[in-house]
Formats: sequence, structure tokens, C-alpha cells
Amino acid sequence: MALVQDFEKIDEGDALFLSTPMKITIGIFVIGPTVALLGVIPMIYWGLVSWVDLGLFLGFWALTAIGVTVGYHRYFTHGSFKTNRAVKIALALMGSYALEGSINQWVADHRKHHKFSDEIGDPHSPWRFGTSRKAIAKGLVFAHMGWLFSEQQATVDQYAPDIRDDKDLQRINNAFPGIVVMTFLLPGIIGGLITWSWIGFLTGMFWGGVVRVAFVHHVTWSINSICHVFGKRPFKSRDLSSNVNWLAIPSFGESWHNLHHVDPTCARHGVLKGQIDPSAGLIRVLERLNLASDVRWPKPERLAKKLIDPSMAPRIRGYDKALAAKAAAESVGA
Ligand SMILES: [Zn+2]
Ligand SMILES: [Zn+2]
Repeated sequence: MALVQDFEKIDEGDALFLSTPMKITIGIFVIGPTVALLGVIPMIYWGLVSWVDLGLFLGFWALTAIGVTVGYHRYFTHGSFKTNRAVKIALALMGSYALEGSINQWVADHRKHHKFSDEIGDPHSPWRFGTSRKAIAKGLVFAHMGWLFSEQQATVDQYAPDIRDDKDLQRINNAFPGIVVMTFLLPGIIGGLITWSWIGFLTGMFWGGVVRVAFVHHVTWSINSICHVFGKRPFKSRDLSSNVNWLAIPSFGESWHNLHHVDPTCARHGVLKGQIDPSAGLIRVLERLNLASDVRWPKPERLAKKLIDPSMAPRIRGYDKALAAKAAAESVGA
């Protein structure tokens, strides 16, 4: 593994230059919801949270988080499965509502992250400033959100031409400013209609919009920061990606990040027994409903070869079954 300290050297040819107004816009949408989190405790103290607000938070959280994990990440970036046009559009819209940037840029940045993970060119490695305690602390902040303001984001033409050339996705990409407004307005409208009150509108917008956006942001960013520094590394990856179990549920299974870097197109990231992966469960549901096909499910024997400790092989889901099937096939062939 080649961990490079000299991250200041920008890799040639594919830097995206952000204008100052663009940086200010990113700042508002990155820092704004986070700062608004300060309002959570006073809102609870003043009783400005209802079951409707909680439902809006959970509902919009689930929809937009799935849009990012199953849609933006496993489907659009890595092609872990195939689906029809309606599901493709639904996933792209749900992911866009998470407000993590337009689908073009998200996919481009993430593909570049995989190409250069924890080396020069990685848009958000926490190892960028070195390996001392201070450098890692600085790197964690950079990997979490600082990188969004850097000049080293990937260019769409180079990393996501397939997304750029898809007409449906371009319509959604161009509609992003409207989506930014609607992601806050929609939970407000629903809350207002259910409670038939302006207070319901405002608290719906706060909990289902602002708080939910901040929560989804920080969970996604934790995969870039925490899951490249802390946690376990059972698989042989060429970077420092790691598995972090306490993030598995909030991240919908994305925090089994060590396996993901070892086998990026695999539709399931939690491949060891007991590793909860709700996104993989959802892809399985789509498959059963004939809405997903050619799903790239894990191949237990192949994964076993990538374990650092081969004696852990029986901990891979389906490993025993795969061995038994292989033995049965061999006995038939003999
Ligand atoms: Zn990663
Ligand atoms: Zn990935």
C-alpha cells in the first residue's frame, strides 16, 4: 500500500476549478443544515416536535439515504445491478433529494475516489496530510467535508460520461436547483397539510428537511472520513478502507467499507455473517419483484481468497453452501 504524503501536488489534467460564488453556495448547503442542528435541543425543549415531524424525518431520511446508497452509489457509480427506466429515474430523484450534489458530480467524485483511494488524486482521503495524530485529525475534517471546497474534485467528462449522456439523468441533473427547494418544502407541505397548521408546516420543514439533510450528509461523509481511519480491515485492500459496525444501520450498510473497496461492484457490502446491510436487502427485494436483474451478489469463494486471515472464511455468508455445492458438482462430475 503506497500511502502518499505529498497530496498538495494536484494530479494533472482533471481538476475542477470552483468559482467563489460556487464555494459560497456549497458552503450554505454544507454548513447551513449542520448549524441548524443547534436548534434541535431548543425545538424539543419548546415542544416543537410532533409524531408527524418524527415520521417526516424518518420517511425522508429513508427515501433519500436509499437514493444515495442503492441509487447513486451501488447502481449509478458501480453498476451492481440492472433495472428499468422507472426505477432508474426514481433512484436518481431520491438520491438528488439528499442534497449531496447533482448525480453527475457525485458519481464522478466517487469513481475517482476508488481509482486513487488514499493516494494522490483521491478527492477525500483522510491521510492527505500525513500520519501524525495532528495530521490525521486535520485529514478527518478534510475527508468529512473540507474536500467539498477543494479544487481536486473529479470532472464529469472524464469520470461519468455515461451519466452525462443519459437524457433522463440530465433532466434530473438540470432540475437540481428546484430539487434543493423541494427537499425542504415538501416535508413542510406534508406536515402542514396533516396538522392543518403553519406551525406544522414550519416544524415539518425543520425536522423532515433541515435536520434530515444534515443527518444524511454526516452519515455519508462519515464513510469518507471514519471508514478510512477507524475500524477493522479483514480484507486485503490496497488502501486504508475499514469496516465500522456502529455505522451500519444509519448508513444502510455502507460502512462495511473495507469489503467495498476490495470488491467495488458487489451489491452486498456486509458479506460476513451478522453484518447488517439494509441496502443489499432492498436490492434483493427489487430482484424478487423483477425490478432488478444481473445483480452482482458476492461470490463467497472468491472473497475468501481476499481475506487477510484465511481461517475467517466460514464467516462469509453462504461460504459453507458454496463449498457444499462445489463438492456436490465435483462428485457428479467424477
Ligand atoms: Zn472509500
Ligand atoms: Zn464505492
